[in-house]
Amino acid sequence: MPAAPASVERIFRGVAVSPGVRQGRVVILGRSAAIADDHKISETDVPAELKRFEQALVATRQQIQEAQRQVLARMGAGEAQIFDMHLLVLEDPVVNEEVLRLIERDHCNAAHAYQTVAERYATSLAGVEDEYLRERATDMRDVAHRVLSHLLDGGHDHDLRRLLKEPCIVVAHDLAPSQTAQLEHDKVLGFATDVGSRTSHTAIMARSMKIPAVVGLKNITSSLRTGDYVLLDGINGLIIVNPSDQTLFQYGELATRQQSLGERLREMRALPAVTLDGHRIILSGNIENADDIPAILESGAEGVGLFRTEYLFINHERLPDEEEQLAAYSAVAAALKPAPVVIRTLDLGGDKFRSHTDVPDEMNPFLGWRAIRFCLEERDLFRAQLRAILRASIHGNVKLMYPMISGLNELEQANALLEECKAALRAAGTPFDEGLEVGIMVETPSAALIADALARRTRFFSLGTNDLIQYSLAVDRTNEKIAHLYEPTHPAIIRLIKLTVDSAHARGNWVGVCGEMAGDLALVPLLLGLGVDELSAAPATVPEMKHLIRRLNLREARALAEFALQCESAHEILGRCAQLAHDAAPELFPELRR
Ligand code: PEP
Ligand code: MG
Repeated sequence: MPAAPASVERIFRGVAVSPGVRQGRVVILGRSAAIADDHKISETDVPAELKRFEQALVATRQQIQEAQRQVLARMGAGEAQIFDMHLLVLEDPVVNEEVLRLIERDHCNAAHAYQTVAERYATSLAGVEDEYLRERATDMRDVAHRVLSHLLDGGHDHDLRRLLKEPCIVVAHDLAPSQTAQLEHDKVLGFATDVGSRTSHTAIMARSMKIPAVVGLKNITSSLRTGDYVLLDGINGLIIVNPSDQTLFQYGELATRQQSLGERLREMRALPAVTLDGHRIILSGNIENADDIPAILESGAEGVGLFRTEYLFINHERLPDEEEQLAAYSAVAAALKPAPVVIRTLDLGGDKFRSHTDVPDEMNPFLGWRAIRFCLEERDLFRAQLRAILRASIHGNVKLMYPMISGLNELEQANALLEECKAALRAAGTPFDEGLEVGIMVETPSAALIADALARRTRFFSLGTNDLIQYSLAVDRTNEKIAHLYEPTHPAIIRLIKLTVDSAHARGNWVGVCGEMAGDLALVPLLLGLGVDELSAAPATVPEMKHLIRRLNLREARALAEFALQCESAHEILGRCAQLAHDAAPELFPELRR
């Protein structure tokens, strides 16, 4: 098939994870993580391609030697030895001669040739019995990653701050939450990735940072080149390369509509979230650090329903100590007083990693050493956080929440540590709020199923639907290959939510939802109908949620929930939910007729 002329419009569809429309030049990052495309080179380009390959080997050699020097100085000769093995692999004549042959004889591009040969060797090494040889497969892949990064990305590392000089659309195979945290507003217009899903922490961060984003585009990194001009539509999940005049006109109209909606939303910022038939619900915002205070105040949220404190620990040289945490928690509590601030204790692990301490690789990180499990072993770290939260509680209306509780024992252990911290503060005469409410995230199916017992020991629940869905349906929340199975309206989820709400209400406790389901406009009527008392979402979403709630009837929402509890089809339930939300406030569901 002849290649499309450069200026022809092309559309790629993915998953919209953070709203907004932006246009700009593309910068491709970390393409080496994806598959190198297998385009052929012409006969005349062969000498240059051979040279490029040799240069990549030289540059990789320098990089490995530099890494070796640093590790030697920091950790000693034993640890630095691994790089000797990497140098041997890099200079393996069998591998390199085969690559040269593929370039010369078959006109393969160097990246594809190297990736093919290296992966073949790595796969056969990985299959042998001998453990020593098996480990060489890891070395081979590690070295291949470096060589490919030189061939595809010019050897740039992934330090985004250094890499992005002009405002651009960042395109990558994937972005880790720690990389997303480095994105700066004035440099990044939006981002698009091959993989990812709506509830991955990268997507959650994009929404909270108000950076438009589309993920799950499958092969966008190999379809685009740095410098391409694209329009990123974070509302409908599209990347449009070389947008035509007609497309730009349609988007111009959409922007005008969005602007006037934005003005209407701003006007009702101070009004309560109350349905047409008088039912009041609390709308709160999810935050990651004290810098998010203005976003909460601007959004009209009535407090913080989830303070994800682990973000204080990501991308920092060292762990924030008790005083630094106290400063962050107190600043938020004081700024929002008397509105509540629910501070969740550390939820590290899963797809959120610490940059400075070693969390070992695990086969199933989401099922592994995460959140409360981690804190109950790293007790000094946990105590410092509990003390910081207790001390911050005198500055406002602070509530404390434990993540990932899966059984009573964890809650009891955590509470025992909390009591220990309280006793030590009392003994030292350090004030804290003696009435501090303690609650838990309900985000494991086991917690939902024993919600009655947990309700007897807590003051509130917040449903972490992101995890509750992944654990109940056995669907990795970050894996786009099975994203179609990640169904918030699955009857199992609806029953677990109902069970949780009823168990809490039977004890006179309140229940919130702080997972992404809360901010999904189509699902807001369902959650209302199921009886939740609070919804907490990215601050940017709160005005739209309020607008919708003020146009709903609780009576209709309850009828929807009753239907959902009887219905056996996730798809049908979702259809009814979307219909009710759309009928109530069609202006919130902008769509381009494409
Ligand atoms: C959740 O699981 O729904 C939640 C809010 O927690 P996190 O997304 O941080 O895992
Ligand atoms: Mg969670």
